Amino acid sequence: MSRVLITGAGPAGLTAAYELSKLGLEPTVLEADNLVGGISRTVDYKGYRFDIGGHRFFSKVPLINELWDEILREDFLVRPRLSRIYYRQKFFDYPLKAANALAGLGPVEAFMIGLSYAKSQFFPQGDETNFEQWVINRFGERLYRIFFKTYTEKVWGIPCHEISADWAAQRIKNLSFREAIRSALLGATRTEDGQVITTLIDQFNYPRLGPGMMWEHCRDLLAARGHETISGVRVERLRHKHGRVESAYGRTSSGEVVEFGADHFISTMPLRELIHSLDPLPPDDVLAAANMLRYRDYLTVVLIAKREAVFPDNWIYIHEPDVKMGRIQNYKNWSPEMVPDASRSSLGLEYFLWEKDEEWDWSHERLIELGIKECAQIGLIEPDEIEDGTVVRMKKAYPVYDQGYQENLDTIQHYLETLSNLQTVGRNGLHRYNNQDHSMLTAVYAARNIVGENNDVWSVNTEMEYHEEAKTPAGTGDRMVPQKVTVPVSDADELIVETFARLDPLALGVSLGSVTGVLLFLATVILLLKGGPVIGPRLGLLGNFFFGYQVTWTGAFLVMVQGAIGGLILGYLIAVCRNWIIDSYGYIIRRTAEAKASRDMLDKV
Ligand SMILES: Cc1cc2nc3c(=O)[nH]c(=O)nc-3n(C[C@H](O)[C@H](O)[C@H](O)COP(=O)(O)OP(=O)(O)OC[C@H]3O[C@@H](n4cnc5c(N)ncnc54)[C@H](O)[C@@H]3O)c2cc1C
Repeated sequence: MSRVLITGAGPAGLTAAYELSKLGLEPTVLEADNLVGGISRTVDYKGYRFDIGGHRFFSKVPLINELWDEILREDFLVRPRLSRIYYRQKFFDYPLKAANALAGLGPVEAFMIGLSYAKSQFFPQGDETNFEQWVINRFGERLYRIFFKTYTEKVWGIPCHEISADWAAQRIKNLSFREAIRSALLGATRTEDGQVITTLIDQFNYPRLGPGMMWEHCRDLLAARGHETISGVRVERLRHKHGRVESAYGRTSSGEVVEFGADHFISTMPLRELIHSLDPLPPDDVLAAANMLRYRDYLTVVLIAKREAVFPDNWIYIHEPDVKMGRIQNYKNWSPEMVPDASRSSLGLEYFLWEKDEEWDWSHERLIELGIKECAQIGLIEPDEIEDGTVVRMKKAYPVYDQGYQENLDTIQHYLETLSNLQTVGRNGLHRYNNQDHSMLTAVYAARNIVGENNDVWSVNTEMEYHEEAKTPAGTGDRMVPQKVTVPVSDADELIVETFARLDPLALGVSLGSVTGVLLFLATVILLLKGGPVIGPRLGLLGNFFFGYQVTWTGAFLVMVQGAIGGLILGYLIAVCRNWIIDSYGYIIRRTAEAKASRDMLDKV
């Protein structure tokens, strides 16, 4: 039976092991930390449980939903979502609601926002190469500065004008955008079996004790089947020969180096680290490409407050520009079981940093002090209400999509393909900004590749639809189970074109011209053949419109030619006007649909 060694007990590593165990292989997982779950872990501090961020469980991939249900069973909760933006000591609903936003900002600001929106619609920025231009063209500059700029720059640590517009477009370029267009054109969509498409923006699944519960269950299920997850072992070296990895060398927390042999290897460690662990090292260009990959780091300050309820939201985006905190989580509102004492609340203050930032090395005490000060500064909670706190750092939380990242990835992927029994999967394993579901999917594919399938893990999330919609059985209040939607997928533009076929001006002109010319010719000829004392007095009135026309044989030819020319011009103009109206309508529909699809844009930042 094949032995498979997996590096990392995050969602991807454990999923790979779980799938392999189903396939009858022998997986072993090596994890550097003492906890499982990777970035999707749940940390326990004196009974207060918290995530790295706040992990909603949603997926469009049925396979993943089945896996989550299978692993966690009845411990999966359906939670209502409430999240707001905090700006200038006021709360704004998020996703934004026009009336609420305008009421909070006041009539003068609302007017200015209206003007700036109108400007962006009438005079959009032409090139649209960066995120800033992309958002301004859809929401106006003022709304962008208030609701998008600060948070996005806090998360990514680079100015919005340095973030590629493709990134924004990609984050919403999915079925929700097409769906918004489709519903604008055709009304609400149902799947083939009559189910209505709804959105998971309003509620989501969450394990009773946080996301780590899912991964602890998974580890336990593996253990029950005899497959080990060994914690506290960091893989530092992968020895390979003749295109095959032969052994992994892991360092234990006591510094001992242990060798693990296997037939196949699956890695979820960050690509940069993986490349540097290869022995012998890859060529210089591959090392250089790996060194160019960048990661954004993340730190959370958890404050325990002596208050039963601090705010009703799951999380709040903090748009105050003069505080460093980007978002604040209230874990009790994710699941009541995240706190051991119902009279207390635990808040997770999220800081997005580079490891080289000075705050990264601050002591716990100093960071907790910063957190308390910032909470008081923005008026969320008083310092004397905080009775305890802790800090958790998560390096490499976000793989950065900068200018050259794709080229570097191509170089690395190309090289890794030369090692036939090594596969890399997961978020940092593929340097993809994946949520759990796609991280897991790559792992399932890699496991199946070992038994003979031929899946391309690198294509997951570039070819697969991904969005936060689900189908709910119409008319039932059942728990939402996200599943793949069976709506046919086509590009937005194609959809508009499909619905309103454009007219070819020349074709319409030629057909209208020919029909007009022939009809007028025939009408004249019929009257001439009929004969009589006065031929065609009424038709003769056409002489007012057609040069030299009389009901004569010459007139028949004259009217045929002129009718054909007139019909051609008229048909051409009709088609041009209709196309222009359709283009304008399509533009409005596209913009409205984009705005609708990007209404949870901050969730995707
Ligand atoms: C702030 C934030 C919020 C998020 N919110 C959501 C959400 O709401 N919903 C959602 O689905 N996803 C969310 N995600 C994404 C989710 O966390 C990731 O998709 C998922 O954790 C990736 O799983 P993974 O196994 O690929 O990687 P990781 O979770 O990074 O796990 C990799 C594991 O490998 C271990 N490892 C690394 N190097 C070595 C080594 N050399 N030797 C041994 N072990 C090693 C690490 O310790 C780690 O345990 C969020 C992420 C962040 C940062």
